[in-house]
Amino acid sequence: MDISSYKGVMVFAEQRAGVIQKVAFELLGIGRDIADRLEEPLVAVLMGSGLSPDCIQALIAEGADEVVVVDHPRLDLYRTGPCAQALTQVIGAVKPGIVLLGATAIGRELAPIVSARMRTGLTADCTSLEIEDGSRNLLMTRPAFGGNIMATIICPEHRPQMATVRPGVMRRKVSDPARPGAVRTLEIDLDGSEGPVEVLEVVSEKAALKNIEDATVLVAGGRGLGGFENFRRLEELAETFGGMVAASRAAVDEGWVAQDRQVGQTGKTVRPDLYLACGISGMIQHIAGMEESEFIVAVNTRADAPIFEYADLGIVTDANRLVPALIEELKAVKASR
Ligand code: FAD
Repeated sequence: MDISSYKGVMVFAEQRAGVIQKVAFELLGIGRDIADRLEEPLVAVLMGSGLSPDCIQALIAEGADEVVVVDHPRLDLYRTGPCAQALTQVIGAVKPGIVLLGATAIGRELAPIVSARMRTGLTADCTSLEIEDGSRNLLMTRPAFGGNIMATIICPEHRPQMATVRPGVMRRKVSDPARPGAVRTLEIDLDGSEGPVEVLEVVSEKAALKNIEDATVLVAGGRGLGGFENFRRLEELAETFGGMVAASRAAVDEGWVAQDRQVGQTGKTVRPDLYLACGISGMIQHIAGMEESEFIVAVNTRADAPIFEYADLGIVTDANRLVPALIEELKAVKASR
């Protein structure tokens, strides 16, 4: 394969019901850095039916040099067949050197199919993306062997180099509505032979009230809390802070809290202003999901707990004594205002 004909960075701008997913903007952030480093363009691909110009403009404002728009009635709702065929055709036409997708339910399904059709490799769940000096290959780093090592993977002989990144891992750039950018409409060939699936009805799942990825304060609990009742007290503390409760996998496995609150490698990646970790040891799989938090406070009975290596403030004490005292103190402060 003549890999020199593949240039630029392409971001799959995932949209659902006309709303561009946050991860697409995060990918534009890292995509912009990579494109600048390579001195090549950053292209966003927007696929759907009846797409609004506002979506296109938002992608340009957050860093895309060009938005490739694929508007087709068969792309009205996400279906793997038509979507995979459309994206494969777009990649074939644009020939980007790098393609980035969010590791969402859609991205996780689409990326391997498209990479297989392009006869190239895919690195899933990357936590860092950089360009190698000299070779200009994409260095795709992700946790391996249960998170015990970080593996850096390259795809030197095939193009495009494809990677997925989980939501919350990369940072968005500041939006600039005045940023100029080009728009290209691509005609693609979908003739109805892309798979037998027809969507009969869409039933939306009742969303959780709030997502821990959006919280500015997280009070997280681990196995060290010792029981369900102790864990429940974190709710009250989180409420006093105007935040949410999060958890280690051990606390989820104990059944003290739902899985959608789990932080870490197999949970969510969070970046709150304050992360208060109570009774969490700080295993690498947990750290992977919260180390980018602005300010980390760790409470642990053991002074040698690994979590203290990542904490801005460490408190060596029994969390089950500290939490009720903290609730009382915060209530008193609030009442005195
Ligand atoms: P423990 O490791 O048991 O730590 C409890 C801590 O509480 C200890 O440090 C102890 O000193 C302290 N303690 C005890 N009593 C008190 C007290 N009264 N007050 C204060 N401190 C106290 N884990 C995740 O969290 N998220 C993930 O996404 C995740 N993914 C994984 C993926 C893989 C492939 C694997 C192999 C593991 C994964 N894990 C994940 C599990 C991870 O390795 C740890 O087992 C887990 O994070 C431990 O949870 P913990 O810190 O709550 O419990």
